[in-house]
Amino acid sequence: MKPQTLHCHTALCDGKHTPAEMAAAAFAAGCGAIGFSGHAPLPDGDDWCMPAVSVPVYRQAVLDLRERYRGQMDVFLGLEQDYFSPPAGEGWDYLIGSVHCVVKDGMVLTVDESEAAFLKAVRDCYGGNFYAFARDYFRLEAEVVKTTGCQIVGHFDLFTKFNEGNRLFDTTDPRYLGPAMEALDALLEEDVLFEINTGAISRGYRTTPYPAPVFLRRIREKGGRVAVTSDSHSADSLLFAYPQAFALAAECGFTSTVYRTQSGFTDVPLPL
Ligand SMILES: [Zn+2]
Ligand SMILES: [Zn+2]
Repeated sequence: MKPQTLHCHTALCDGKHTPAEMAAAAFAAGCGAIGFSGHAPLPDGDDWCMPAVSVPVYRQAVLDLRERYRGQMDVFLGLEQDYFSPPAGEGWDYLIGSVHCVVKDGMVLTVDESEAAFLKAVRDCYGGNFYAFARDYFRLEAEVVKTTGCQIVGHFDLFTKFNEGNRLFDTTDPRYLGPAMEALDALLEEDVLFEINTGAISRGYRTTPYPAPVFLRRIREKGGRVAVTSDSHSADSLLFAYPQAFALAAECGFTSTVYRTQSGFTDVPLPL
């Protein structure tokens, strides 16, 4: 089957290119499908999200592209819901549910905005304790399916974005692994897919996808399913590091990945 991504962003939120430019790049790259997943609005209107007025524009742009590529490439209308996004309503092909921030003492602490903001949050709000921050993060992550109604869990361990090589905290420490596994086990009770997300690799933050192998193995053990996505914010990274992501899935025991087709989510055998 031709490759695809179900997670990408456009200039209507924090991406670089228009929906039409992203679709053209996907088609040129030989994709069988592209699924758009603009950041849903947040109540306090963060600049990485779509403002509410842009949502109808986004929907129409994607639906127009579906017509333009009909018979050549599937175009899906998705949305990336944050834990704190208002309900998405009906009319989406799928929702990705993601935790990007934690609210602590009334302050919104974003985990992936910048390393400086992440470090400031740990210092000012958690007395320098990364593990206390992680515990709050995974407490929200555990509920992300119930809160967003998503079909796909986005970047499960985004909390490690700036922690390549365990440079800030130790991901084997039970104070990290305990709350993370608890969240994962709660999510594995739900009928939901997990993405293997290469977005932080294309943007130079990490050398491996989310989630870490320890979590992928748990997902596999418990019969969960995974979909490889690029979380692409520009037309040149739609299929970034896919061979690496498929190899990782195979190493962690998966024999298939999930693709979206017109009839729904479908298992596709590895290796691809
Ligand atoms: Zn995200
Ligand atoms: Zn995203």
